[in-house]
Amino acid sequence: MKKVQILALVAACIVGIAALVLNTSKTGEETSVSKESVAIQAVTCQHMVCNIEACDYEVEEGVIPNNSFLSTILQGYGVAYKTVINLVEKSKGVFDVKKIRSKQPYYVLKNKENQEVDYFIYKQNTTDFVVFDMAKKGTTVYTYEKPVVINEKAGSGVIVSSLYEAVEEAGMTSSMAIELAGVFAWQIDFTRVQPGDEFKVLYEERICEGELIGTGNVQSAILTNSGKEFHAYLFNGGYYDENGKPLESMFLKSPVEFSRISSKFNKRRRHPIKKRIIPHLGTDYAAPKGTPIIAVADGVVTKSSYTGGNGKYVKLKHSSIYETQYLHMSKRGVKVGEHVKQGEVIGYVGSTGLATGPHVCFRFWKNGVQVNHLRQDLPAADPLDEATLSLFHVERKDLRIRLDKTIFSPEL
Ligand SMILES: [Zn+2]
Repeated sequence: MKKVQILALVAACIVGIAALVLNTSKTGEETSVSKESVAIQAVTCQHMVCNIEACDYEVEEGVIPNNSFLSTILQGYGVAYKTVINLVEKSKGVFDVKKIRSKQPYYVLKNKENQEVDYFIYKQNTTDFVVFDMAKKGTTVYTYEKPVVINEKAGSGVIVSSLYEAVEEAGMTSSMAIELAGVFAWQIDFTRVQPGDEFKVLYEERICEGELIGTGNVQSAILTNSGKEFHAYLFNGGYYDENGKPLESMFLKSPVEFSRISSKFNKRRRHPIKKRIIPHLGTDYAAPKGTPIIAVADGVVTKSSYTGGNGKYVKLKHSSIYETQYLHMSKRGVKVGEHVKQGEVIGYVGSTGLATGPHVCFRFWKNGVQVNHLRQDLPAADPLDEATLSLFHVERKDLRIRLDKTIFSPEL
């Protein structure tokens, strides 16, 4: 436990400097002593903790110990058992006290005169706090969120080896690569992003008390992939291309993010183990053992099993037309009959069965026939109606103007 002086209290949710209004009309009558006390007060009373004037309290700071309950922590500060029960009751619908996590910071505000705890403040994350208020008669529990400023930012880059590196090179956090891959997951197979591919993106950054606390929420982006341009515009919570066609489609392009295709769909492939021509009716994605394998579309698990050739594998039925299968898993993650959502993890990359190294052999059926999924023109999500489409184009033009303020591959 660390005792924190009011003046040093910078970690808590400081929301601003309380303006101290001095009555200047009386200045002439004041003695030098009273002036000094006003000056001290002005320096001391600078901080607010979750909108509470911290200068009125003695503030202690701590972290939630392992395997501890709110009740034990509060009782450790001398809070009466009855009050604790009351707080737990009042917290219902506001915050689940069972979800208090160890290592999270908390602040205790004690009444300077009687040393009683008036507030217990639990920090959920950078911006969110839960305030257990015991100051007034009848306790209350409420949440407090630090004010966050959202700035629109633009960035661009050229892929040299990977999207990750290009994004970091452009001064953005690597999470932007995951976000961009998510936006274009239905259009671009990120296992096939090539050197020279370019992107520009309009996104938001969240600032709290002058510090960057997060980036993301892509507003629009243009990405070139092998000379082809792909557009994304955020509208009504979804992404659309320049014509207002939803980017979201029934199928994702790949069952593994950030892997590489090690063997294509090929009806005349020489088998690497059997050493003879055996059609390869799937696409192999090489990735490290343990990499999550995701369902390319919503569906039902029809097989979750093992054979000598397939190793551990999972088969999904997506509709009366489409089925997919994922082979050579190190571990299966779903059982027959389970419903899975697009993007849900169904197993992990391995090399069980006939495999020379860790990869997932991805197989795709259309009307019972195995086909190359990369050659299919797959169904899209619901299109926008005409009225909404014209609203979309207004929004898109505006986003495009903002996006175009950034240029591809800025000169360094
Ligand atoms: Zn294969």
